[in-house]
Amino acid sequence: MLNGWIDIHKDRCKGCGLCVAACPKGVIALAEDQVNAHGYHPARLEDPEGECTGCAICAVACPDVCITVYRMPKRVEADAPAVAASA
Ligand code: SF4
Ligand code: SF4
Repeated sequence: MLNGWIDIHKDRCKGCGLCVAACPKGVIALAEDQVNAHGYHPARLEDPEGECTGCAICAVACPDVCITVYRMPKRVEADAPAVAASA
């Protein structure tokens, strides 16, 4: 279930890998097939199973403030029992 996702500012990233090490879900990797404007392999989200929780640990770990975190609001179940009103 998708709970969160991140956007990484590719051209500000210096490929230090701190966010990769910090992510408890292991869903950030350095893009070995890309080189950014400064010659670094930038970090990217690799999360095909939607495991990102939006915890923001990666954003806190990044020394260059490259990561924006998005978090889904809690889902309201359509078939949840209605709350009865008291008289
Ligand atoms: S928000 Fe949390 S789970 Fe998502 S990529 Fe960042 S550290 Fe990993
Ligand atoms: S911590 Fe920041 S600068 Fe370092 S790899 Fe991750 S996004 Fe790039």
